[in-house]
Amino acid sequence: MALIVQKYGGTSVGSVERIQAVAQRVYKTVKAGNSLVVVVSAMGKTTDGLVKLANEISSNPNRREMDMLLSTGEQVTIALLSMALQELGQPAISMTGAQVGIVTEAEHSRARILHIETTRLTRHINAGKVVVVAGFQGTSNAGEMEITTLGRGGSDTSAVAIAAALQANFCEIYTDVPGILTTDPRLVAEAQLMDAITCNEMLELASLGAKVLHPRAVEIARNYGVPLVVRSSWTDAPGTWVTSAKPQGRSLINLEIARPVDAVEFDTDQAKVALLRVPDRPGIAARLFGEISRQKVDVDLIIQSVHEGNSNDIAFTVTTPILKRAEAVVAAIAPALRSQSNPKSDEAEVMVEHNIAKVSIAGAGMIGRPGVAAKMFATLAEAGVNIQMISTSEVKVSCVVDATECDRAVIALRTAFEIEAGGQGAGGAGGAGGAGEAGEAGENKLIFLSSPLPAPHSPLPTSPVRGVALDLNQARLAIRQLPDRPGMAAKLFGLLAQHNISVDMIIQSQRCRVIDGVPRRDIAFTVSRIDGESAKKMLTQVAAELGWGEVVLDSAIAKVSIVGAGMVGQPGVAAKMFEALAEHQINIQMIATSEIKISCVVAQEQGVKALQVIHAAFGLAGSEKFVVPA
Ligand code: ADP
Ligand code: ASP
Ligand code: MG
Repeated sequence: MALIVQKYGGTSVGSVERIQAVAQRVYKTVKAGNSLVVVVSAMGKTTDGLVKLANEISSNPNRREMDMLLSTGEQVTIALLSMALQELGQPAISMTGAQVGIVTEAEHSRARILHIETTRLTRHINAGKVVVVAGFQGTSNAGEMEITTLGRGGSDTSAVAIAAALQANFCEIYTDVPGILTTDPRLVAEAQLMDAITCNEMLELASLGAKVLHPRAVEIARNYGVPLVVRSSWTDAPGTWVTSAKPQGRSLINLEIARPVDAVEFDTDQAKVALLRVPDRPGIAARLFGEISRQKVDVDLIIQSVHEGNSNDIAFTVTTPILKRAEAVVAAIAPALRSQSNPKSDEAEVMVEHNIAKVSIAGAGMIGRPGVAAKMFATLAEAGVNIQMISTSEVKVSCVVDATECDRAVIALRTAFEIEAGGQGAGGAGGAGGAGEAGEAGENKLIFLSSPLPAPHSPLPTSPVRGVALDLNQARLAIRQLPDRPGMAAKLFGLLAQHNISVDMIIQSQRCRVIDGVPRRDIAFTVSRIDGESAKKMLTQVAAELGWGEVVLDSAIAKVSIVGAGMVGQPGVAAKMFEALAEHQINIQMIATSEIKISCVVAQEQGVKALQVIHAAFGLAGSEKFVVPA
């Protein structure tokens, strides 16, 4: 007999008939000899409706009252589903988050789970009842008891956290699509279903816009090794397993806030090649990385910062042994990127930097926690280490620094994040950089104990790219002319963290200009669109006080990303993505990569097209078309 946590999303419980269908499935699962906790969302678009009501009354509703309001949606569903189960003769009891004892931080509208009481749940389960729990909500018990919510889409988080706390055999997420697809089937009907995906890949996809699973749910599954499957509410098809390597034992106390960083990694065997002042038009990155891949040069990080005037800088890192080859390729292609009318201009200048190192912090708990990256930058600043390049992914922040400063940086970071040397955090010279995350992501090792479903096998073996995601809810901010010295990134991202603004895709320009005797660089990053205006306002004020340059906001952007653990060591992947965009005249505004993803910022109106052409370019389109139910 297995203990299973099932979660049903809004569409799956959108009407009385659908609730009855869910009750039937639950009933069948119990009759097959299993114990069940069922987590449910609000019916259909109820939560959206409640948000709309609030906005009709206030343009800036109080967050405590919003939680009070939004948590009612789930309460309707739990009662109705319990009744439907009782009608079938199945004993059931509904419980709110507070009744279960889902204890969270006191942060309204985005609370993280600290702890889940299991006594009451276990007592009802042992009495043969199905416990129906309201998703997306909890209770804070710091001071007075308050109802909190976990943030939109948070029922996934509730379900996986309950599965972790109960040490359930597995957690099933039932939704309106057959599982995790290569991209959103609402935007690309030819998207294909995957049998399995690793937690690390799914973390990136979820954070980059694939809303089928909430990234925090994936984070908990990864940290606690919860076997997780996404399935269709309408069929009995097996769905997609999200696999995790066996985690180290973790305490269930401070469930979502303990240890955001698991490892400090470094790689001293790196060099940087930059191409400065290349034209800002479609096709440049494609041409450069096309040539690099034809010459079989494997690049690590790729960064293209926000344009200045009508030119861009593109930089990438390679391992030292192939630097000469990389440099030769870039030097050969540079003249072709200079304008013919003025060949003596300073366009397409090649810059090479030896003796750099990459230091990274890695861990699934950084998602939505702007303070973690800020703490890394502050730690490096305190140690007097200047950051030359920054690259972020959902589970890793990497900084390129001078090789002579690497040891100091690593020691400071290990102390700050309490990572023991020689433990998980040990990186080797020329070693741990990418291998840690990619190796783990690639393992695909399953640890579930028992399952009624067939064991997954890896699908789509021909493509190193597993999924493509689009995020249309981002805005880009750029700050011009920040002094190039230790502490600037720390200051900037510390301020954003203080205002609880999560930052993504941080990119520092390669171009350095001396103004008033101070070398300066631009820094650009993306934030949630809703945070764009307030971040701009706050930073404009700070910039004026500190003598930084202009703060520029662009809300009309889209971020399109490819994700796959198999991208490591495959030189042609980036080129293929850039070529697909170039072929359709889509200009790339920014590029950022990590070991398992490449993201490009493009104009908002070209976002969907960009997603479609990239999905097709990697051969991910299937012959069948999906029709997503309303
Ligand atoms: P629920 O209400 O069940 O939680 P959501 O609407 O939150 O469902 O998530 C399911 C939706 O996620 C799908 O209808 C689909 O449009 C969207 N989606 C985005 N990317 C993907 C993907 N890669 N695979 C599957 N679905 C995706
Ligand atoms: N009902 C909440 C929402 O719509 C939580 C969820 O469905 O996951 O965001
Ligand atoms: Mg959802």
